[in-house]
Amino acid sequence: MRAFVLAVLAPAALWAGGVAGEVAGELRKAELDPEQCYRVRDLRFARDELKVYFNDGYLIFAKPIHGQVVSAVFSGEVEGGGAELLAMPPFVRERKSLAGFTHSPNLDVRFQSNVMVFTDDSAAELLASARAAGSKKNAEMGFLLKEKWNSVMASFVASFEVRLVEDLLSPRRKEVGFLYMALGGSALGNFDAIWDPRGNRQISIGQVAFRDERRYFDVWTNFQANSFRMGRRKTPEMDFKPEQYSIDATIDPSLLLKAVTRLRLTPLVTERTIALELSQQVRVTSAKVDGSPAEAYSPESLRANLMRSNENQILLITADHEFTAGKPVDLEIAHEGTVISSAGDGVYYVGARGIWYPNRSLRFAPYEVTFRYPKELDLVATGDLVSEETEGDWKISRRKTSAPVRFFGFNLGNYQRARVQKGGLTVEVCANRKLEAALQPGPKLMEMPPLSTTPWGRGRQHRTPGVMMIPAPAPDPTARLKELAAEIAGTFDEMAARFGAPPVRTLTISPIPGRFGQGFPGLVYLSTLAYLDPGQRPLAKTNSLQQMFFSEILHAHEVAHQWWGNGVMPADYQDDWLMEALANYSALWMLERGKGPRVLDSILDEYRNDLLRKETDGRTIESAGPVTMGHRLSSSQSPNAWAAIVYEKGSWILHMLRRRMGDERFGKMLAEFYQSNLFHSVSTEQFRQLAQKYLPAGSPDPKLENFFEQWVYGSGIPALKLTWSVKGKAPKLRLVGTITQTGVDEEFSVYVPVEIQTGKARPVVKWVATSNEPAQFEMGLTAMPARVTLDPGATLMRK
Ligand SMILES: [Zn+2]
Repeated sequence: MRAFVLAVLAPAALWAGGVAGEVAGELRKAELDPEQCYRVRDLRFARDELKVYFNDGYLIFAKPIHGQVVSAVFSGEVEGGGAELLAMPPFVRERKSLAGFTHSPNLDVRFQSNVMVFTDDSAAELLASARAAGSKKNAEMGFLLKEKWNSVMASFVASFEVRLVEDLLSPRRKEVGFLYMALGGSALGNFDAIWDPRGNRQISIGQVAFRDERRYFDVWTNFQANSFRMGRRKTPEMDFKPEQYSIDATIDPSLLLKAVTRLRLTPLVTERTIALELSQQVRVTSAKVDGSPAEAYSPESLRANLMRSNENQILLITADHEFTAGKPVDLEIAHEGTVISSAGDGVYYVGARGIWYPNRSLRFAPYEVTFRYPKELDLVATGDLVSEETEGDWKISRRKTSAPVRFFGFNLGNYQRARVQKGGLTVEVCANRKLEAALQPGPKLMEMPPLSTTPWGRGRQHRTPGVMMIPAPAPDPTARLKELAAEIAGTFDEMAARFGAPPVRTLTISPIPGRFGQGFPGLVYLSTLAYLDPGQRPLAKTNSLQQMFFSEILHAHEVAHQWWGNGVMPADYQDDWLMEALANYSALWMLERGKGPRVLDSILDEYRNDLLRKETDGRTIESAGPVTMGHRLSSSQSPNAWAAIVYEKGSWILHMLRRRMGDERFGKMLAEFYQSNLFHSVSTEQFRQLAQKYLPAGSPDPKLENFFEQWVYGSGIPALKLTWSVKGKAPKLRLVGTITQTGVDEEFSVYVPVEIQTGKARPVVKWVATSNEPAQFEMGLTAMPARVTLDPGATLMRK
């Protein structure tokens, strides 16, 4: 019995010689050292823009672990004691973001306590400056502080356990080591400050916050630290490149997935560990490196995971030797877990979040995957089908990717299929034969399946109540199968014609419960609502926009992700918007092709109304921040901002660019963007540089710097008003006009087209730059204008 309990509680260190497990064991015994407690006064400590002044108090260090001190605590509990944190973000946008949360563009805040966890040389530096300042040791106080702070310190150390192990074992510790500070007793409450050279933006300051029983990590500011901006330090090299995945997976009748993942990779740096991500639902049962038993270490790390905002755990693989840069390594990891959920009546879906096999940061690689599963089920997956056979009660299907993919997805069900081939591309749409439990009829109020945290689900949540009457008779989940297959094949083919050949030429569509979709390489998850006849959807029949979303937009959006997100990928979280906006606008463009421009305009109107909707504090949703803030837009201050800004404002941004370029140039620009970056990451700046090439000659703002500054890197939706008059006598007339701009910040300025129509001649377009002062313009005319119109083509997002 006792042995059983131990087996359950033991960390996933599977190999007795596991060095990561050893270090973790030491970390779990971390304790403050009363002998290393100092009375400190006016001690300065800085990491680039993060500046700490320990004015008066005590500083106590933890005992070393694996030869390094990884924690220290400051306490200002003396008469008039305390400390100060100063941080001045070097970018206007970051100062604005900080001010949005703290009411000040710079941080200058007093605090009483600071629990620090670090793997860089913070301890040595702090100790050296304490000694240099003649700080005295005080063991008596040390015992009191240990009593008070030891468990707090230990819990912070535990929450960073994997990262601490990874860095402590790394030969690059000095290069990759981080500093984390939990500051307490300030006017802003408790908050965190982080300096982490592994990130592209090394400094983050933020706070855990709650709203409507949901937990958020509000990022107040996040920016590239001075020493990196100035080139004194470089972001550490990427750790490895995956070369080939081969996965053998068995799904048993209880839906437990047991798999062996073989990953050949090439380390790009010499390291003691290889870090991989894996869903928290999955447990590793054994690991090998180059055929020899190895350690796969993965404890819980809640705080770090919350900041990473996904549901994966980090897995550290160690062998009895270092991994040498350039020398290929074969990993073999056996794992099992429940990643497949049942929505009732034979309707399944694979966990919406978390990675079902060990992977890291979704890097492109070729895959060969074999699935064994109960023969009464159907399986769909990324990649081309190599073979499929039945053995007893099992079906065995082998798949192989024809091009590198970032992720290998699959789904199970009991499907009816429709297959369409068009222009060398294949689309196979699978529909569930049975209806998921949540959509089955009954004279009762029903709870909808939990809304996914993926974009569309969350974005639409405020419009669709969770409880509603389900209409009878039973909706038919195969109702639109043929229609969908034909439509999706048309969309896939048309997008290929516009953007270039997709990375994967076979696309399978599979249903999932809920109201969202997800586009993996070669595999799309599509909400079952999209399969139903509009009249049978649990939506108000009069809500034409929502009906259109499930009938026409959602599938096209996910298909477009084959190019945007799977063919090219975002370089950083600040570029995520680009993939979503491109996918969404591609879908709207298809819709416009089929249904005409009025439909597009009505959707864009609706988007603008969403963006102008007010949060409870009276601010508009759009004012939460620029699209480039990415996931940071989802904060306790603006729970609805992220989806509205990324999808809806993102679509507007592309629409405005299209109107500036014209359809043909816009299409060519997108094709070049895709084709020249295939299998690479792209940034917002790269997109701007390409877009400027496609502006018609003589366009104002020829580098699109103003456009990007206002619409992409900034926020605000202006109200614009045009007044004009004509002076003089024909043929020597002068048109004098004024554009007044309201509802935006003082510095807001955009180029607005004014169209002047005289007689039967072609209208003349004059571009006027707006500002917070009324913008005047003049032009000579030979005849009285018939019409002077502000922005006649609706090229601008405005109130
Ligand atoms: Zn999307």
